[in-house]
Amino acid sequence: KARNASEPEFLQAVTEVAESVLPYIEKHPIYKNNKIFERIAEPERVIMFRVPWIDDKGEIQVNRGYRIQMNSAIGPYKGGLRFHPSVTLSVLKFLAFEQVFKNSLTGLPMGGGKGGSDFDPKGKSDNEVMRFCQSFMTELSRHIGANLDVPAGDIGVGKREIGYLFGQYKRLQNEFTGVLTGKSIEWGGSQIRPEATGYGLVYFVEEIFKTQGKSLLGKNVVISGSGNVAQFAAEKCIQQGARVLTMSDSAGYIYDAEGIDLAKLEFIKNLKDNLRGRIKEYLNEYPHAQYFEGEKPWGVKCDIALPNATQNELGGEDAEKLIANGCFCVAEGANMPCTPEAVQAFNKAKVFYAPGKAANAGGVAVSGLEMAQNSLRYNWSREKVDAKLKEIMHDIHAICVKYGTEEDGHVNYEKGANIGGFVKVADAMIAQGVV
Ligand code: NDP
Repeated sequence: KARNASEPEFLQAVTEVAESVLPYIEKHPIYKNNKIFERIAEPERVIMFRVPWIDDKGEIQVNRGYRIQMNSAIGPYKGGLRFHPSVTLSVLKFLAFEQVFKNSLTGLPMGGGKGGSDFDPKGKSDNEVMRFCQSFMTELSRHIGANLDVPAGDIGVGKREIGYLFGQYKRLQNEFTGVLTGKSIEWGGSQIRPEATGYGLVYFVEEIFKTQGKSLLGKNVVISGSGNVAQFAAEKCIQQGARVLTMSDSAGYIYDAEGIDLAKLEFIKNLKDNLRGRIKEYLNEYPHAQYFEGEKPWGVKCDIALPNATQNELGGEDAEKLIANGCFCVAEGANMPCTPEAVQAFNKAKVFYAPGKAANAGGVAVSGLEMAQNSLRYNWSREKVDAKLKEIMHDIHAICVKYGTEEDGHVNYEKGANIGGFVKVADAMIAQGVV
């Protein structure tokens, strides 16, 4: 803790995992003797670099770039790039740490990493974003590779940014390889990758519901965010017959009592992805809806809550509101959106709480499938990738049940995901010696 005292998000993520994994380690001394927890919490390598670029006015701008290569015990480092002003070393180390367990849970051979920059793509022209991406990749390209470290998108890094980053990598290395995932379908991407995190999240919720003999039909769902994860979580909820009541962005949330249907969702996708507008503009098209500036949607009555925006966006008081309103399932599309107080409240109330490292693993799982297709130089069909995604989410759910079932039969998904993700990586680390 002393070593990472200035990294609150990282400490939060490690503490959360420690709470479920340390009791397990006590019962399995081989992990203790090999100091696995001490080793797994220390990145294998951290790269920090200057990203200079020239804006449209001809002025020089300087941002900071990062890549955290956290753990390569079970495969090449793998994890997204985040471009957002809130990016710090602490945020990326927490994300990289979570990624190690998540990637392990997918069953695919991927280690954990994460990277990004404090660059804010909002308000920048396409040319500025391209120049920034080219400068960022000029340094990053020395540290990544199809068999070494394979970044992807995350907040602020979508198909536009992945395109610019890939173009620059290809130019510098003079080779066309699967060094990034989330590529467009025409040049090496996988079917279902844009949808994968959101769809996978809903498949995971359906697995939880199956254990209770329930389905999504007619259930009320509250969603935060309106980016990649939120859009496709909403799409799958609607397809499965649930009613999506809210979506949000960093400025506020919209509430549509009639439910956001597929046509309305198309409006939101175009608004956010192409027009780069704000969620409140939903009311220009659908004036019957309501907009709440500066607020989060957790006070809205619902059966299911899907926090899909960012870390620590759902606190203890929000959790109490959700519980009081009868919400019985909270599944994290975002990484660590629920604070420790919120998680505690959900566990106490026996609300089904699915942590991001299990529930949002569908994205990286399909990234893993994109890597496999790139190696094969072949594209699988949409149906095949979707079926594999479903199977992977089913298997992750089974791992959570295996390691997380309490004496009273309630499944603690957090404990199950942490231990299930840990065991595979820990065993590989032991087999590979003290490295
Ligand atoms: P996007 O950039 O596509 O969307 C992010 C959304 O969250 C936007 O609606 C954005 O609003 C909102 N948001 C971002 N930062 C904040 C903030 N500080 N406060 C409030 N709202 C905020 O990102 P993704 O959808 O890809 O990622 C969302 C979450 O899901 C992240 O936690 C990410 O790590 C996680 N995740 C993503 C995966 C993926 O495949 N993309 C895979 C697994 C997890 P605004 O438009 O105002 O910025």
